[in-house]
Amino acid sequence: MHRFFVPPSAVDGDKVVINGATAHQIRNVLRMRPGEHIVVLDNSGREYRVELVEVERRRVTGRVVAQRQARGEPRTRITLYQSMIRKQRFEFVLQKGTEVGVAEFVPVVSERCVINDLEAVNKKMTRWQRIILEAAEQSRRGLLPTLQPAMLFSQACERAQRTGGLSLLPWEEARENLRTVLQGLAETPSSVNLFIGPEGGFSSQEVELARGYGLIPVSLGPRILRAETAGIVTAAIILYELGDMALPGGEMPGT
Ligand code: SAH
Repeated sequence: MHRFFVPPSAVDGDKVVINGATAHQIRNVLRMRPGEHIVVLDNSGREYRVELVEVERRRVTGRVVAQRQARGEPRTRITLYQSMIRKQRFEFVLQKGTEVGVAEFVPVVSERCVINDLEAVNKKMTRWQRIILEAAEQSRRGLLPTLQPAMLFSQACERAQRTGGLSLLPWEEARENLRTVLQGLAETPSSVNLFIGPEGGFSSQEVELARGYGLIPVSLGPRILRAETAGIVTAAIILYELGDMALPGGEMPGT
């Protein structure tokens, strides 16, 4: 069933009003008709099964026929601090990270980044939001992952310390292993900050700085993953290890 994120104001009791690009998508692209069902998400963590009532050019209305807590959200909130990499590869990270279950993305400019202009990076935000939205609908996420403005590595470390949680920095030369760190946790962290370096990796000064902010350098094992692969793989390992890959899914029953 087609899923759509809508503004919170679109759902009012059992009435749903959808405008703009989503209305266009429903009417002109998917050619849906009154009586057909969609799933609507208002970013509250709930999902609504909606029967279409009117399908007009710029406005689609519907009626909520069932609702429940959305099931696509991991209990552990992962923030992926991804060092800037080439455009297409960065977009790949946003799309695949959303599928795996990343809750928040922070583009980071670190020492060895080829792309290091914060302003230029921030011009891409609208396109990136769109990529995240489409991936979130397709992968049945219950909440739309957020995208923060780009920041420098030191600012990112400071933010991670401020927001709290377990902070990990995969680094090829780390002595501790990701698995050992995760298995040694006394309790499941409610949030994890995950720092991934650019193609050229992190410098040892950066690793030292990060340690000062409480980040733990971890090894992902003997194989070197590319910058666009490391975050996706590590996010999946974290969610698996914390038991978040085993929750039930399934469509919402209609009435
Ligand atoms: N230039 C480095 C590789 C960088 S890979 C080299 O050739 O040695 C890009 C990022 O992915 C790294 O900064 C790190 O955060 C992560 N990464 C990839 N493979 C890793 C591994 N085996 N252990 C820890 N981190 C890894």
